[in-house]
Amino acid sequence: MGEQMVSDNVCSIIVKNDFCIGCGVCAGICPSQTLKMMLSPFGEFNPVDVHGKCLANCHLCLTSCPFGNRDENEDTIASALFAQQAGIKHTRETGYYLSSYVGFSNVDDHRANGSSGGLATWLLEKLLTEQRVDHVICVRPAENEDTFFKFDIFTASLDVRNASRSSYYPNQLSEVIQYVLNHSGRYAVTGLPCYLKALRLASAKIPKLRTRIIYYVGLACGQLPSTRFVDYMAAKLGIEASVVCRVQFRVKDYKRPANDYGLMVEYQRMGAKDQKTIYRSEGMGRIWSYGYFKHNACSYCDDVFAEVADVVLMDAWLQGYAEKSEGFSIALIRHSEIEKLFIEGAAASELSLQEIPIEAVMVSQRGVLTRKRTDLADRLNLAKGRAYVPQKRVAPSKRVPLLTRLGFWLADIMRAQVRRHFDPGDAVRSFRVTERKIFPVCLLYRIVVAVNKRLFSR
Ligand SMILES: Cc1cc2nc3c(=O)[nH]c(=O)nc-3n(C[C@H](O)[C@H](O)[C@H](O)COP(=O)(O)OP(=O)(O)OC[C@H]3O[C@@H](n4cnc5c(N)ncnc54)[C@H](O)[C@@H]3O)c2cc1C
Ligand code: SF4
Ligand code: SF4
Repeated sequence: MGEQMVSDNVCSIIVKNDFCIGCGVCAGICPSQTLKMMLSPFGEFNPVDVHGKCLANCHLCLTSCPFGNRDENEDTIASALFAQQAGIKHTRETGYYLSSYVGFSNVDDHRANGSSGGLATWLLEKLLTEQRVDHVICVRPAENEDTFFKFDIFTASLDVRNASRSSYYPNQLSEVIQYVLNHSGRYAVTGLPCYLKALRLASAKIPKLRTRIIYYVGLACGQLPSTRFVDYMAAKLGIEASVVCRVQFRVKDYKRPANDYGLMVEYQRMGAKDQKTIYRSEGMGRIWSYGYFKHNACSYCDDVFAEVADVVLMDAWLQGYAEKSEGFSIALIRHSEIEKLFIEGAAASELSLQEIPIEAVMVSQRGVLTRKRTDLADRLNLAKGRAYVPQKRVAPSKRVPLLTRLGFWLADIMRAQVRRHFDPGDAVRSFRVTERKIFPVCLLYRIVVAVNKRLFSR
């Protein structure tokens, strides 16, 4: 019978049920190259079966998808990778670890241009200059391209340096994976927890990926917004989405604490370029934390600390660090060679590092941990009986107070209303309409959040 259309692939299960995070791993590894990553009308990347050449009984995409239901999960993958190392420790919240540090890079402008302390950029450059890898895969800003950020492959450390700072923006790996499959060499990759899980799952089945991508550098993750987040923030600044030419997240203002960071929007009007910056305290924090543009998949995610990564970097959202504007990173290390690099870096004064207890690492991500464990259990309970729900390590249960559940419901309503009313083609006007329409729900949500905080310390 040869090739035939099959119904069970990522498009008909993961995308159809709105659990796609847009990592692009499925499209990168598809043996018949029938999947292509495309932006949805809501600004999220999804695979689309463009050629209708999906192979019968292949299922490679589904078995590599971080939201596909299968026996492997972050625990089983990480256990196979790290459990046998001498000195390894484990907690249910963080996964495996050898050591944890807080600090920053002293090298050139790593810290000034980094999201937090610039440790991620320092490490990626180190892996190149020490010739432990030939290439680094990370996310660079893009200008005059179809998106504002892109995954790219670098062999020069200066290019890695120019790709620092977080991209709170959908980026997909499909082209990069195809490049790696076609070009030998040793690669290090940066990624969010779900992206790295997908890569580990794919690597288990594709030897070329397994032998070529040899270091996984994770970023802790609370959520990923769609491209519409940038459009909405630009509209809040009075800038139409169509004239925006470049954006930069995590702008530091040395008069503000580190956690009041900015988003810079560069735009072009009448041939001249200009830019404006909006900070978290100026309304960006509300739009981020209320999850107006959050992918649905993020509400069903249980990995904060990129548990399958060799090292995970995050912000030091801790008293004594968060209020200092320069920025501090936390590194949770699982790979002995990476640990050695950090220790040598500190000895050579390239890094300022201090060991911190694992409990402090957890405290630094307390809010995200609550969402990804306690709140997730409740969400899974509410989702029982739906056509498809991803299997998680957290068991479904009624674990939150009714008031907290009311908060989930209101957040879902706000997200749906923003999708309905915000039109990036008419961004500035529709931003005002959207804010007006969602005001009552937003106000109620704010009250629910405040009462939750007071009564349940959440
Ligand atoms: C969507 C998202 C959500 C996050 N949520 C949290 C959170 O809840 N709590 C927390 O503590 N930290 C979070 N982080 C991580 C945090 O923003 C910093 O990336 C981290 O503190 C490392 O800072 P740094 O100064 O060491 O990194 P830098 O020196 O600035 O280097 C960052 C490196 O990561 C790469 N990169 C940036 N964005 C992406 C991306 N989307 N995918 C893959 N690679 C990327 C860059 O190319 C660069 O190489 C998040 C990051 C992202 C992208
Ligand atoms: S592998 Fe990634 S891009 Fe493909 S369906 Fe799953 S989440 Fe979406
Ligand atoms: S919250 Fe989870 S699903 Fe969402 S981007 Fe982060 S790691 Fe992926």
